[in-house]
Amino acid sequence: MTAPVELVAITRDFGATRALDGVSLGLSAGEFAVLLGPSGCGKTTLLGILGGFLAPSAGHVLIGGQDVTALPPARRPTTTVFQDYALFPHMSVAQNVAFGLRMRGMRRLARMARADEMLALVGLQGAGTRRPHELSGGQRQRVALARALAVEPDVLLLDEPLGALDLKLRRQMQDELKSIQRRVGTTFVHVTHDQEEAMAIADRIVVMNGGRIEDEGTPQRVYLRPRSRFTAAFMGEINLVPARVGGAGDGHLLLETALGPVRLALKGDLSAVQPGARLALGIRPEHLRPDEAGLRIPGTVIETIFSGTHQRVRLQPSPAGPPLVAHLPQGARVAPGEAITLAFDPAAAVLLPEA
Ligand code: ATP
Repeated sequence: MTAPVELVAITRDFGATRALDGVSLGLSAGEFAVLLGPSGCGKTTLLGILGGFLAPSAGHVLIGGQDVTALPPARRPTTTVFQDYALFPHMSVAQNVAFGLRMRGMRRLARMARADEMLALVGLQGAGTRRPHELSGGQRQRVALARALAVEPDVLLLDEPLGALDLKLRRQMQDELKSIQRRVGTTFVHVTHDQEEAMAIADRIVVMNGGRIEDEGTPQRVYLRPRSRFTAAFMGEINLVPARVGGAGDGHLLLETALGPVRLALKGDLSAVQPGARLALGIRPEHLRPDEAGLRIPGTVIETIFSGTHQRVRLQPSPAGPPLVAHLPQGARVAPGEAITLAFDPAAAVLLPEA
């Protein structure tokens, strides 16, 4: 089962702390949304308000078009998977999964059949008679997921569900979570502060900062075309080169930068762009390449670090400009002190506010 979600102007105060400040967000039925942001930005508070564990100080929560703001968790079409899984240690795995169904009065045989079905969905067929302490962290996580999905919520809320797992298992569970979500079609709202995790699983990433939504969109859009410096930097490494508008017209913006003049093709109305305005040009490290056509940047290598999938190279451009970080292919042979020329395609760069 599945439903759209609408958050309307949600504010939440804890004493003098404003944890959420007028958050509005609409999610389609069946969407996998990820709330992403640094510690303290309000993600958990927003999830708690969606699940009914916290009341907003102002604003409304609508699920499937129904205003559920005043409803307690048990009367909402939501279930929550917490980071610590909260499994009942004295119950078997199958009893854990069937717990919510028992609360709803489903008969024993029917609920045990459903528990088996749910355990198969999460790849734990045959584990129903075991106790939670006999399972690994990843398996316990799957049981928590099976238990939450057993009651067929319209919306599943996941609070850092993979936080306790090691990196390899975390990546594996991300793939599984995504494929389970596709199969069940339930709307998922997942909280994390790991941008790689967000990109791996989300249909839509909602970037939060200081109790507000900073940016939201597909992983591609939010990574490649971030709407703010905060989003640009939070989504991964980025070079920010100061730029001054030299002129605009004909769908292009002419920028003066320490790396040289840059001509950017831009969509939309450029009449509001004032010559002399100060901006920043954002260039992702993987867009600086030795073989790229575009603006050429000669410089001297400051240092190189082998990072497995790529070489992370710091470059001092000449004659001027801030040090830049480039991700060069794994096999690139460059050494500190060496003179190299990198280049970037202005179409891959993103224009951001100066500060
Ligand atoms: P984390 O990733 O660390 O869990 P978060 O993004 O989930 O962080 P929240 O837990 O939602 O952030 O907290 C948002 C703000 O509200 C923080 O400043 C936090 O200190 C404050 N806050 C949250 N819960 C309470 C509470 N029960 N009492 C007082 N302040 C709170």
